[in-house]
Amino acid sequence: MRKYNFCAGPAALPEPVLRQAQQELLDWRGLGCSVMEVSHRSPEFVEVAERAEQDLRDLLTVPDNYKVLFLQGGATGQFSAVPWNLLGADSKRADFIHSGQWAAKAIKEARRYGEVNVVASSEDRNFSYVPARGSWQQSEGAAYLHYTPNETIGGIEFDYVPEVDCPLVADMSSNILSSPIDVEKFGVIYAGAQKNIGPSGIAIALVREDLLDRAMGNIPRSLSWKVAADAGSMDNTPPTFAWYLSGLVFQWLKAQGGVEAMAEQAMKKSTLLYEFLDASDFYSSPVEKSSRSRMNAPFVLADDRLDKQFLSEAEKAGLLSLKGHRSVGGMRASLYNAVPYEAVEALVAFMADFEARRG
Ligand code: PMP
Repeated sequence: MRKYNFCAGPAALPEPVLRQAQQELLDWRGLGCSVMEVSHRSPEFVEVAERAEQDLRDLLTVPDNYKVLFLQGGATGQFSAVPWNLLGADSKRADFIHSGQWAAKAIKEARRYGEVNVVASSEDRNFSYVPARGSWQQSEGAAYLHYTPNETIGGIEFDYVPEVDCPLVADMSSNILSSPIDVEKFGVIYAGAQKNIGPSGIAIALVREDLLDRAMGNIPRSLSWKVAADAGSMDNTPPTFAWYLSGLVFQWLKAQGGVEAMAEQAMKKSTLLYEFLDASDFYSSPVEKSSRSRMNAPFVLADDRLDKQFLSEAEKAGLLSLKGHRSVGGMRASLYNAVPYEAVEALVAFMADFEARRG
């Protein structure tokens, strides 16, 4: 029996995708072997790769002047790739919005290669809100501005796209494909796969073509977007199974009605949970209302001595991975695309029952 899985990542995958993979595992396309056991250069795999790219382009309406790259090294690899690829032309300076723990990691890595200016930060209130639009200014001559539209640990999500006159770089690891985006507003969008795309082991970058010639001269080959773009993301052996599964997720997303449908679902699911939290004295959300993430909802119990009990009873009730990030404690429910509305209904019902018994 599959349980409801609220893990922040690697996260729940759509059941039909897992079933299809299971069905095809031993004998893929009548080839007598699995998709993992064929050459990445075989016509069969190249078709999978191309279809995945096209489906992702369709889902996010990616303009033709953007490369879609399938990469390795996770989003963390892109923390390094971004400065390596963008600080080699005129400017060694990059602007960052500091919104929490993932932004902090991107900042720390970029500092190894250039001058980092933190132009906005929500550190003063423990990253519990999104720095307001218009409350900050970009610095002069920055090669790019980097931000994290959704902070997976802190549970805050931007409801606006920063307007800047340098390339905008976004780490969309935990909210990509959860709503329509205007790709043209961005120079680079990247994401690790293991939340809304597919299994871990693959990362995606959308890179505007004119940014491909700004790399530092000694860039490691495996981090170069230009090398990846020129080789169709196959400069070396790609993670073929993760690519194939991501492709199945894209097909599933299309069948569900695409990112518009996902946005509607995400709003419904997160509203159900947040309204419940706000109505309760037993549970609360540490995040300011207007900044709450639709994807990751951290919450705490008024009495943290009940945390352990809560988690063990939740697990027995078939609700998995509600423990908050090890750095912040408490609880966190991640509500990615593959988490159905019924899962949130079950969660809220369990929480109400727990409160009635322990409150
Ligand atoms: N950025 C964000 C917003 C994330 O949530 C994560 C992973 N949870 C990362 C970056 C790092 O991703 P990876 O583990 O793929 O390197």
